[in-house]
Amino acid sequence: MGLLVQKFGGSSVADVACIRRVAARILEAQRAGNQLVVIVSAMGDTTDDLIRMAREINASPSDREMDMLMSTGEQVSVAMLALALHALGAEAVSLTGPQAGIFTDASHRKAKIQTIDPRRIWRHLKLGQIVIVAGFQGRTPGNDIATLGRGGSDTTAVALAAALKADRCQIFTDVEGVYSADPRVVRDARKLTEIAYDEMLELASLGARVLMSRSVEYAKKYGVTLEVLSSFSKAPGTLVKEEVESMEDIMVRGVSADEDQAKITLSGLPDRPGAAARIFKELAGAGINIDMIVQNASARGLADLSFTVPEDDLERTRRLMKSLIKPGGPSLAVDTDIAKVSVVGVGMRGHSGVAFRTFKTLAERGINIQMISTSEIKISVIVKKALANKAMIALHKAFKLDKSAGRAGGRRAG
Ligand code: ADP
Ligand code: ASP
Ligand code: MG
Repeated sequence: MGLLVQKFGGSSVADVACIRRVAARILEAQRAGNQLVVIVSAMGDTTDDLIRMAREINASPSDREMDMLMSTGEQVSVAMLALALHALGAEAVSLTGPQAGIFTDASHRKAKIQTIDPRRIWRHLKLGQIVIVAGFQGRTPGNDIATLGRGGSDTTAVALAAALKADRCQIFTDVEGVYSADPRVVRDARKLTEIAYDEMLELASLGARVLMSRSVEYAKKYGVTLEVLSSFSKAPGTLVKEEVESMEDIMVRGVSADEDQAKITLSGLPDRPGAAARIFKELAGAGINIDMIVQNASARGLADLSFTVPEDDLERTRRLMKSLIKPGGPSLAVDTDIAKVSVVGVGMRGHSGVAFRTFKTLAERGINIQMISTSEIKISVIVKKALANKAMIALHKAFKLDKSAGRAGGRRAG
């Protein structure tokens, strides 16, 4: 009994029948005595369809107009859901992001929520209404509509849960929770009962699209208890929460793969102070997120530098690098045939066997590692794109994460 924020993703509201089912489920939660704020994504593949349609008419569309276009997807679903609830005799009202008081910065297509003014939502709740809010959007300081980046409805949900001090934020999706790997790729993946914010944050930013990584950042920052569960079944889901000590017993919680990465290599850079700074200054200025970085100095006073960027930022990165390189200077190579495969777990802190087991497993499968990066709780490697799933399945098995494997191998040794 309390205030619940529920979010339903695109596949949960893909058609009229799905929307009806979601409406019935929301009503059930209200009848159990809860106040409800519900966030919905665009129906099915609407966002992809809108992007494709825009590209047909303009190969490099303006970000502002893309936001104008993409935000319509969520407006359709909030209105449809409100209508479905009305048809069931419930009181419900649909709101766009701006109407719901969601204010963002001005960076179109990847806007960040800056503040939320929840007064209008509270007004509707006090009238006994179910409040349906369009995910993935807000209002910029210039009074334009902005979207929050792909998967952004998760972030709307968590940010609203924090602003409203909701009792729980439930993310309903098309799988039963967070798994030890993408259950569509690794058939033996295990549903996790709980996962620490930090682990979820790594998995989400390393390719497990079940939650947008920014939503996990918000959840951690504001202490929002998140629950990921299926909109198609009543099975218990996964709790994403603050780490508890026993979580450290499990060395590796999950594996993930991100195929939307590209590798840039600059060969023959001057091997002296300032060379790398010059390159990354440009990239930082353009707001491009760099992930893995490897530099090798060669004997002739020259260095090779490789780094990865999200594929979406590749063209901008390529242009920036070309503008930096003088004729006869370093050479530039781009490789999009790569994927990043990662193993994640808070239990690997201070534990040295994980890197070895990761590299050995990949070696046994003949999978070559092109780059490596580590943090306290993850190891990521770059491999050829076609080998990403094979690598993920092999690592999943090597760390004994399978449903049938029992937990022993994933546990810390001593
Ligand atoms: P929604 O439309 O509900 O936001 P998404 O497609 O964004 O759903 O995210 C759910 C999908 O995330 C699942 O269908 C699944 O294939 C994928 N996924 C990737 N990694 C994981 C994981 N570790 N656990 C659960 N799902 C995962
Ligand atoms: N509809 C948006 C997308 O497809 C936002 C979301 O689904 O969370 O990315
Ligand atoms: Mg999603």
